[in-house]
Amino acid sequence: GARSFAQGSSVVPGQPVVAIVGSPNVGKSTLFNRITGRRDAVVDSTPGITRDRRQAGAEWSGRTFQLLDTGGMDPADDDEIGTQVYSLARGALAEADLVLLVVDVTVAPTGGDMEIIDSLRGTEIPVMIVANKCDSPARDAGAYNLLSLGLGDVFPVSAQHGRGTGDLLDAVIAALPPSSDDPEVDDGPEATAVSIIGRPNVGKSSLLNALLGEERVVVHGEPGTTRDAIDTTISIDGTPLVLIDTAGLRRRGKARNDVERYSMLRTVDAAERSAVAIVVCDAVEGVTDGDLAVCEQAAIARCCTLLVINKWDLAQPDLDDLRGLVSRKTRQRPPIEICSTVTGEGLHRIIPAALRLAERARTRVPTSRLNDLLRELARERPGPRKGNTRLSLRFLTQIAESPPILRLDVNDRGLMTRDYGFWIENRIRREFDLEGVPVIIQVRGRS
Ligand code: GDP
Repeated sequence: GARSFAQGSSVVPGQPVVAIVGSPNVGKSTLFNRITGRRDAVVDSTPGITRDRRQAGAEWSGRTFQLLDTGGMDPADDDEIGTQVYSLARGALAEADLVLLVVDVTVAPTGGDMEIIDSLRGTEIPVMIVANKCDSPARDAGAYNLLSLGLGDVFPVSAQHGRGTGDLLDAVIAALPPSSDDPEVDDGPEATAVSIIGRPNVGKSSLLNALLGEERVVVHGEPGTTRDAIDTTISIDGTPLVLIDTAGLRRRGKARNDVERYSMLRTVDAAERSAVAIVVCDAVEGVTDGDLAVCEQAAIARCCTLLVINKWDLAQPDLDDLRGLVSRKTRQRPPIEICSTVTGEGLHRIIPAALRLAERARTRVPTSRLNDLLRELARERPGPRKGNTRLSLRFLTQIAESPPILRLDVNDRGLMTRDYGFWIENRIRREFDLEGVPVIIQVRGRS
């Protein structure tokens, strides 16, 4: 009969909707209960079995969403797949912002699965594949075969035991559109915060003024004075940007120690408020230990870094040498630009290069590509060993962006060494074009 699926919208104002779909007995209800019932996913309404569906509010890491279990749509109807395909085809899931397709890894995909998959392909809604019944890591390999469906990222999960559901939820909230009741949401395109930092006298103020003087740059309003820094909102070719300057602090210190102390404080403060730090160096001096320390400060503040060699009119150090130095001595390996605030050379490239880094930091790398790389890395350089056990790399997934945060599952994180961790980080950076971008890797696995 006519489904009352559309009756009573699942849309709670301001809350995104996540729909669970899948064949019978794959574990949809268990997953629903797991997500809405667990202590750290706060349930804000009692899930009620209605004739049509179950729905409940859930919360994870401070984000709320509505979870919809299409499985219980019509308990009297034994042709559940028919029901699902029917409702998908009808666009009943049009209100969903994200679909969790649950598949049982212990059985081969059924015709019913394929029908559901085909109907999902026809929609614009992003899909995550929940490979359920991965009760132990041994089953994860089977899960990744599901990547070949090309439908979305795969999450090995045991809905029954809770294994992997945290990762799944991290990915769910990262993929959701912002709630309209989210305080951070604003209407216009977000301005990228860029700071100009570096040792004294490398030319930071000159660079700021030169950038503001560029023809393509429109300066909005009077520069507002904050406590320590002067922020200027500008747009360049229509892209909004906040330039964070730290010149205001300069006058505070008189003694040399004070100057140095404030200079470090400025750096940290500015980097913490920025998406990208332009680290200015002096071409005459090359890249000094002091410059590298500034880069490191910015990296610790989880800020993208761009190295700018200023005063190019006075000296032209070998860029290949500098690149070599920077990739040996910095963790983040910032890209390098050159400029002269006197001749204007190179100036036009600086802001686009900074914006490009912010853009790269927003990257989401598909889980399939991360795990392809992980397998390659494990082949190339097997993990360190302690006694009879060797570190094995199991699964890599991105759980956040701006900056990218990755979660690496291993057999035993006690086996991870600093050296091996940095090697992995740098290979990821190289593979996904993340030079100059912070990459945070959280290693997980019983220790
Ligand atoms: P800050 O302390 O890093 O803000 O440095 P300033 O912007 O005050 O510049 C320090 C000195 O370097 C000043 O005397 C500037 O005129 C000079 N300077 C800045 N940029 C350049 C450049 O590209 N070429 C040359 N030759 N001098 C520069």
